[in-house]
Amino acid sequence: MTVAVEFTGVSRLFGQTAAVDNVSLTVEEGEFFSMLGPSGSGKTTSLRLIAGFEQPTSGSIRIFGQEAAGVPPFERDVNTVFQDYALFPHMNIRDNVAYGLMVKGIGKTERLKKAEEALAMVALPDYGDRKPGQLSGGQRQRVALARALVNQPRVLLLDEPLGALDLKLREQMQVELKTLHRKLGITFIYVTHDQGEALSMSDRVAVFNKGKIEQVDAPKVLYTRPKTMFVADFVGTANVVKGALAQTLTSSSTPFSIRPEHIRMVADTTLADHIHAKGEVIDVQYHGATSRIEVSVGGQLFAVMMANLQFGADDEAHLPVIGSSVQLAWPVSAMVPLA
Ligand code: ATP
Repeated sequence: MTVAVEFTGVSRLFGQTAAVDNVSLTVEEGEFFSMLGPSGSGKTTSLRLIAGFEQPTSGSIRIFGQEAAGVPPFERDVNTVFQDYALFPHMNIRDNVAYGLMVKGIGKTERLKKAEEALAMVALPDYGDRKPGQLSGGQRQRVALARALVNQPRVLLLDEPLGALDLKLREQMQVELKTLHRKLGITFIYVTHDQGEALSMSDRVAVFNKGKIEQVDAPKVLYTRPKTMFVADFVGTANVVKGALAQTLTSSSTPFSIRPEHIRMVADTTLADHIHAKGEVIDVQYHGATSRIEVSVGGQLFAVMMANLQFGADDEAHLPVIGSSVQLAWPVSAMVPLA
């Protein structure tokens, strides 16, 4: 495997703030790699360090084995797609896409041909003559993508590229990006604060928190085996059993995560290899295929996911009433210890 991007002990300080704090990571060539985390956790700064728009305060960055320090952005084998698209409003779409090639001194015939190819790649073959203002948000996003792809970079950096789109279009573009990634076979490094997006698209995800990486793993591993309380909470919002309640229920002070879909409401309180807990229903939220029940157990709030029976006339009859007392149970094996 070829390593596309490697961080070794990289920090980037802004005054006293460590936007990126001693981060080490490796992105393999051809991977769809996501950087996931809340606002201000250092994702964008990490991406800008790869692009060369920022320089590390300490540590080293290698791109395809080559030390990146001192290499200007345009000489790096990477291109960036920004959330705000950054298209030139007065230029038509074809010229927008060809712009980077013009700066590189590539002749007109050649660059317009390449621009058309890139537009075809993002399914906008007939839009070259239009201006950005004459396109929808989703189409502008595709143009921004075409513009970043026209130089045939080995690494494509995407900074929350779908953030401005409505949910339906965002989901459609997620599928398109994933398909494009598969077709091109190049490395994608994708910044997002949307855990669903990161899980559904990526080969691996790095979870950022306060400038540090908490865990890097494949989506399924992150979801089923979170290593820290932060990851358990941020990726898939697991319940965390901790403190005195952990001691009471598990006879251990180690915090555990337990997924809402692994908890059941039961009548039998003697199931083998299960943890049982009594609680009070605080809220019932109907989500169509599922319902989410919030239950207070010893002062801690637990989310419980229930499948709804879509075939009956009264498909909410199985749901508990707010304020009622319920017995929860979950398999001991479904609990994941956290650091
Ligand atoms: P978001 O999802 O909101 O874009 P992020 O995870 O991408 O957040 P960064 O933009 O990398 O986070 O910012 C990380 C931290 O560094 C924040 O505290 C931010 O305020 C700070 N920061 C980033 N760029 C600068 C700058 N140019 N000058 C000063 N502080 C900065």
